Amino acid sequence: MAINWFPGHMHKARKEIKKVMPQMDLIIEVVDARIPFSSENPLVPSLRGDTPLIKVLNKRDLADPVITEQWLAWLERERGVRAVTLTHNQRQEALGILKLAEEMTPGHDRQKSALRVMILGIPNVGKSTLINTLAGRPAAKTGNEPAVTRAQQAIKLPDNVLLYDTPGFLWPKLSPVQCGYRLAVTGAIRSAVLDFEDVALFEADYLIAHYPELVVNRYGLDETPVDGLALMDAIAVKRRFLGRGGVPDLHKVSEVLLNELRAGTLGRISLETPDMVEQELVEAQA
Ligand code: GDP
Repeated sequence: MAINWFPGHMHKARKEIKKVMPQMDLIIEVVDARIPFSSENPLVPSLRGDTPLIKVLNKRDLADPVITEQWLAWLERERGVRAVTLTHNQRQEALGILKLAEEMTPGHDRQKSALRVMILGIPNVGKSTLINTLAGRPAAKTGNEPAVTRAQQAIKLPDNVLLYDTPGFLWPKLSPVQCGYRLAVTGAIRSAVLDFEDVALFEADYLIAHYPELVVNRYGLDETPVDGLALMDAIAVKRRFLGRGGVPDLHKVSEVLLNELRAGTLGRISLETPDMVEQELVEAQA
């Protein structure tokens, strides 16, 4: 899979983070609850050293709640990491993360100096949205497109907390290969990087294997298709996405599948489980 993450950006972000990390009291890493493993930044564990970390599984509203619970338990058990879930527009809950930050930095006296918290994460996981929620005002740019660039900024919050945005562009991990596809399915990386219809087929295969009832209901199918391609054909027929000679228009079907998953129209769907990822890691090493 040929994905170029612009080594220049990567090098710059690494340098920036390394520079500011010693001044930070705590890191909040935001990931997408539907893909808590694929949406991690591979550098965070080594860059943060001993700095306390809270992992925020954001976009909980879009993820399968049963699988999200599995991830919370896995992160605690396998990584020893404090993890919480979140969804946008939940200010009290978001402020609760800062309370947790206070508990996790018992040696810090906020009367004397500000608690410096840095929000890290790959593009499109909801960092700016969280920053704005915490600030109670638009303090960071948000956007649907990945990699909205922003200058390094510190935002003053009540109770002497200083919030720092991710400096530069943090890339996701793209190995094992499934990670890249999952990131593309959720829209975290531009679909143009991978073939659009391949990404939709990856999603379709996954849906048939893990959420067949959701697609059967959503598209009003009479029976469960045997695989992703059969699902795409069935949607083409149902929605009349047919070209000349009745050939299924897979591009249109791909658009529908990807847009509806991203918007949550299909239901709450997680794209990876701890068991799945553990197995893929073993296979990738074999
Ligand atoms: P950033 O690139 O990490 O700063 O991500 P943004 O804050 O710009 O968010 C990317 C997109 O995800 C935007 O369209 C947000 O509205 C959306 N978003 C953020 N948080 C949530 C959430 O909890 N649930 C859902 N459904 N969408 C969210």
